[in-house]
Amino acid sequence: YVAKKQRNTYKLYSPLMNDVPTKELILENSMLDALETNQFMLHYQPKLELGTGRIHGVEALLRWKHPEFGMVSPLEFIPIAEKTGFIILLGEWVLRTACLQVKQWEQMGMDAILVSVNMSMMQFQQKDIVASIKAVMSEVGVRPEQIELELTESIFMENPEHTLQILHELQELGLKLSLDDFGTGYSSLSYLQNIPIHYLKLDKSFIRGIVTDIRKQMIFKSLIVIAHNLNMKVVTEGVETAEELQIIKEHNCDLMQGYLFSPPVTPERFAELVRSVNAAGE
Ligand code: C2E
Ligand code: MG
Ligand code: MG
Ligand code: MG
Repeated sequence: YVAKKQRNTYKLYSPLMNDVPTKELILENSMLDALETNQFMLHYQPKLELGTGRIHGVEALLRWKHPEFGMVSPLEFIPIAEKTGFIILLGEWVLRTACLQVKQWEQMGMDAILVSVNMSMMQFQQKDIVASIKAVMSEVGVRPEQIELELTESIFMENPEHTLQILHELQELGLKLSLDDFGTGYSSLSYLQNIPIHYLKLDKSFIRGIVTDIRKQMIFKSLIVIAHNLNMKVVTEGVETAEELQIIKEHNCDLMQGYLFSPPVTPERFAELVRSVNAAGE
């Protein structure tokens, strides 16, 4: 048996297994082909403004329809793309596709909508990240005000000063920035002191169990107050029940995202959703 060090885990390979590529290896080796043959697509999940009941924005979420495995979760293939560096190419495709979608919705006469794109730490380590984002937006012809980037605290793991500088440049360009998955991992309030972000996205682990857990409710309530005092708006992710919605409204959360309102859907379905919600006028 050969033990192979992979990040922090050891994987065991028996001689018999050598000929059978693992799913991970197959995914890794088929990514470029997948990009070229249009196996990747974006689905869109609305963010609802709690005060007005209007759709405020939408998050682009990457999907991979693999010929052998069917739908593969981004939780499975994004880490592989990060490991190999393919995320740079894939991330640029995501941004360009989301920008083209914004443009198309605009041409359909839809009300202006803010589209957010998730960014990996590795994309942030590119030297020319600001220039390349700018290039994609101007190539497609969208304004920075139409685009939001969702970032996680991991972008501060390496070279935090450089990261902060980039965030300032992006904000000055007019892009909106959110801090995603807040409350997972090693979330620290100290990040909130310095970073120029507009939205704080509370991870779905915050909302799970909140209905019966008073202490969780108190933390949730306090975080919203802190975010508001720092001029940030709060988005609660993963809202699934009416009871959860009730609580986040009581605590003055600004926006919500979750299956209760809508799962991620195709661009066509999203356009219908906007029409029906805005027509209902509530
Ligand atoms: P995320 O950015 O935090 O996205 C939220 C995830 O929660 C999405 O999973 C969404 O489908 C799911 N979700 C939304 N509402 C609910 C709900 O009410 N209940 C539950 N249980 N889940 C809900 P998804 O689409 O599988 O994406 C998972 C993660 O993959 C994302 O987490 C993000 O970190 C990453 N990801 C997705 N697309 C991209 C991308 O284009 N680039 C990068 N770098 N990462 C991406
Ligand atoms: Mg996100
Ligand atoms: Mg999130
Ligand atoms: Mg997440």
